[in-house]
Amino acid sequence: MKRRSALAAGCVTVGSIATGALTRPSSGGGPVATARRADDSSDTDRRSEPILEETVHETTLYEIDAPESGPTAMVFGGIHGDEQNGIEVAQEMTDWQPDAGTLVVIPETDRIAVENGEREGIDGDLNRHFPPGGEPQSELARGVWNALETYDPDVVLDLHRSLGIYGVHHQYVGQIVFHSPDARGSALADALNDEVIPWYMPLHRFRSSTSDINGPLLFQAANRELGATSYLLESTSFVLDEDAMNRHTRFGAAKVLELHGLLETEGDE
Ligand SMILES: [Zn+2]
Repeated sequence: MKRRSALAAGCVTVGSIATGALTRPSSGGGPVATARRADDSSDTDRRSEPILEETVHETTLYEIDAPESGPTAMVFGGIHGDEQNGIEVAQEMTDWQPDAGTLVVIPETDRIAVENGEREGIDGDLNRHFPPGGEPQSELARGVWNALETYDPDVVLDLHRSLGIYGVHHQYVGQIVFHSPDARGSALADALNDEVIPWYMPLHRFRSSTSDINGPLLFQAANRELGATSYLLESTSFVLDEDAMNRHTRFGAAKVLELHGLLETEGDE
């Protein structure tokens, strides 16, 4: 009993350190600051529209066109409805200011799952509905796929939450960047580890993993069928509060936009 409470106390301490005074202070720069800067350009075009309109799955898609032409990036939150970090960061991104190209964001992709706070909506696990050589497996998946085909993005980013720590909890993947073979997954993981993971949290360092694209996940299908460079970012909830998880997810999302030319961060590289 005594030992158990000591362990529990240890967890609480690590959790509070992650968001407390010892956290590396923001330098005020970097891709997140660039993305969030005040929109002083009247040339930026912002619009939103419903997808899957007049179905139970209706959800909102946001499109932000930068003044300069450039690549199109499409970001998904809420493919799993209980992964709040991805939903919240995707919602924030609808106010971001890309320097070039087009940013398309669907924050609540499986809106019913998001509203219920559950992983799966009424059609099951949306992220298993895009099999190779077949049609999308549900009405929701077809609507999401239609939006993807419409924008035919250069880059796809799918935001998720994982559990546990890789290598410690054998059933969990921990913090990881899954990516298509053409993506800059190791550069993204390196940037996350350099910029947002404190030295005293080595177990939270991000790994990167090149994915077999012949799977049923949305980011795999986007690469396989549309040639999009694609990422699935998993931020763990293990001993982290919402602020810390969102910080990891937010930095990863901004870094993807920077790596692919939608954000130009001064003084970087
Ligand atoms: Zn997920």
